[in-house]
Amino acid sequence: MATLLIRDAAHIETFDDAGTSHAGASIFVRDNAIEAIGPANDLPREADRVVDARGCIVIPGLVNTHHHFYQTLTRAVPGTQDVPLFDWLIALYPIWARLRPEALRSATAIACAELLLSGCTTSSDHTYVWPNGCRIDDQIEVAREIGLRFHAARGSMSVGRSQGGLPPDSCVEDEGAIVADTQRAIETFHERERFAMTRVVVAPCSPFSVSEDLMRESIALARSYGVHAHTHLAETLDEQRYCVEHYGCRPVELAERLGWLGDDVWHAHMVHPSADEIRQLGATRTGVAHCASSNMRLGSGIAPVRALTAAGARVGLGVDGSASNDASHMLDEARHAMLLARIAGGPQAATARDALRRATRGGAAVLGRDDIGALAPGMAADIVGVRLDTLAMAGGAVHDPLAALVFCRPGNVDFTIVNGVPLVEHGASTRLDIERLVARHNVLALELVSGR
Ligand SMILES: [Zn+2]
Repeated sequence: MATLLIRDAAHIETFDDAGTSHAGASIFVRDNAIEAIGPANDLPREADRVVDARGCIVIPGLVNTHHHFYQTLTRAVPGTQDVPLFDWLIALYPIWARLRPEALRSATAIACAELLLSGCTTSSDHTYVWPNGCRIDDQIEVAREIGLRFHAARGSMSVGRSQGGLPPDSCVEDEGAIVADTQRAIETFHERERFAMTRVVVAPCSPFSVSEDLMRESIALARSYGVHAHTHLAETLDEQRYCVEHYGCRPVELAERLGWLGDDVWHAHMVHPSADEIRQLGATRTGVAHCASSNMRLGSGIAPVRALTAAGARVGLGVDGSASNDASHMLDEARHAMLLARIAGGPQAATARDALRRATRGGAAVLGRDDIGALAPGMAADIVGVRLDTLAMAGGAVHDPLAALVFCRPGNVDFTIVNGVPLVEHGASTRLDIERLVARHNVLALELVSGR
């Protein structure tokens, strides 16, 4: 049994049920679980490994509920910078159709590195293009090597342009093959047990790129294995118009008709639900990945996050894909979520604590987990520390360290521990050669976009 001590933190914010916080405290970890939290003098002074947390605020690892890792290859691509969702997709689909396994693996590593350095310890990813032999195995292998807790959503598209869908036919897959490969991924990789590092999610892409049959088959597959299901829904008014034209109903009505509401489902965005739909999403405990930066970037609108939460929906935060954010920085995302809520609802619409709660407990609930998102004995040792004595925090953290994390400009974290393993220490990755990774990634990104 290995022990780990996070020693002498200036401040610990647990996000437990009672909202406990500690000053001058430590956390004792045995293997991959938290054993004790409390005043530094009451805990052991030594362990097999010690992380010096002096000058840091310590919080639970952040949980990212929506991403498309492969899009780290297509950030800020000219022609996609200033257009709404459908035009953005139409410009990017042919580029993504050239994706190859090496690029997908590189993109996964880049996104995982960025997430870890920004305090994220668990992430979902939603890849929905699988050309040229790309497989979810590529992503799961990389995430396992890096050590990020990973909910791999096996995305899919099956309705191409010739069938009335948005993507080109070159980007879609056969529905039988999609279901068979998703089932294979669940049977090969999905871990059910507490502290699972890999879970598989069934994730057809969106109403405008898959059929009703595939949506029905996908949710049936997910429920037969007891795994969760994920898709994009109610992101833009263009999508709403598409649904009315093609299905004769609004996106949330479509989801209900297809069995896609419930506590084992979460939808990315949910920018445009009606008041009745908000009540329905709440009553069914459906999950929502709120992607504030992406919604601003694409001008999609402002999701009614507060109303969704009040109705009973599970709401977490998502950075969304790197072609529509274009950053995988979870603290930054919490900040944007707080600020965006205030544009819609005034300065009391979201506090710094609300934003961080959504980024931790909220995300854990969205992914269906009770073992992450808070610091308490028996919880997974997913722990993050941020220095309070930096330039960006100067004159802020001394008054309110938790609020300063969100109000002040978020930088990278000092340490990130996932499942009891330090993956970031002193602000640097312990496992990855970032410089080498970035150099190769840039070559792959240029090849992908230029098609050469
Ligand atoms: Zn997305």
